Amino acid sequence: MLSADLVRVMKARGCPICSLVERGERSFIESVLYEHPLDPQVHIALKRSLGFCRRHSDLAAEIVLSKPEIDPIAVAVLYEDLARKVLDDLSGGEVRQEAPCPVCSLMKELEDIYLRTFISRVEVIREAYERGPAVLCLRHFLKLKPHISWLNQVQMRKIEGLLRDLQGFIEKRDYSSRGKLTEEELSSWRVALKVFTGVDGRERSGSFIEKFKSLLRPHLE
Ligand SMILES: [Zn+2]
Ligand SMILES: [Zn+2]
Repeated sequence: MLSADLVRVMKARGCPICSLVERGERSFIESVLYEHPLDPQVHIALKRSLGFCRRHSDLAAEIVLSKPEIDPIAVAVLYEDLARKVLDDLSGGEVRQEAPCPVCSLMKELEDIYLRTFISRVEVIREAYERGPAVLCLRHFLKLKPHISWLNQVQMRKIEGLLRDLQGFIEKRDYSSRGKLTEEELSSWRVALKVFTGVDGRERSGSFIEKFKSLLRPHLE
């Protein structure tokens, strides 16, 4: 049940949509490598996309290295086929990507499904979201906001809570302070990274990108 999945992940502090999409992308790569490395459909998809994107190549490597039951031969078999295709293309003078990374496509689909569930099962979702420690990342909040009247108010309370935790963490790290850090304060910096990172470059305004380019410049030179 999709709404039951959402309610369950709302008991954790991350973004419920991101958590479910991340779970989906990981299990998709695991299943490709564990059960389907010889599946012709998988070979076709990876040849059309010219392999996994950077994020999913890294994740595939992490999965192979951390799961003894997944044989690296699975990657070798898929990429041997891809290498031959690329060589073929190169001999014709051009390498073309015909489709996006298949895991990215799946993530997009999963994201849409869970966003739609969040909106359509709102009576179950509202209670779980209000009570639980989950905080929607900004990207998913902005996608849901136009469809859910109460969400703005609830999200403000969540961000206020996160702000208090960040402030508590900063203040109590001072040696003169006697306060004991709570678990929420200790993990607040990690939650903040997650909550404020969901908006990717394409969705930010141009001026935002320009600002960050100027910050990055010294490291690029
Ligand atoms: Zn999210
Ligand atoms: Zn990808």
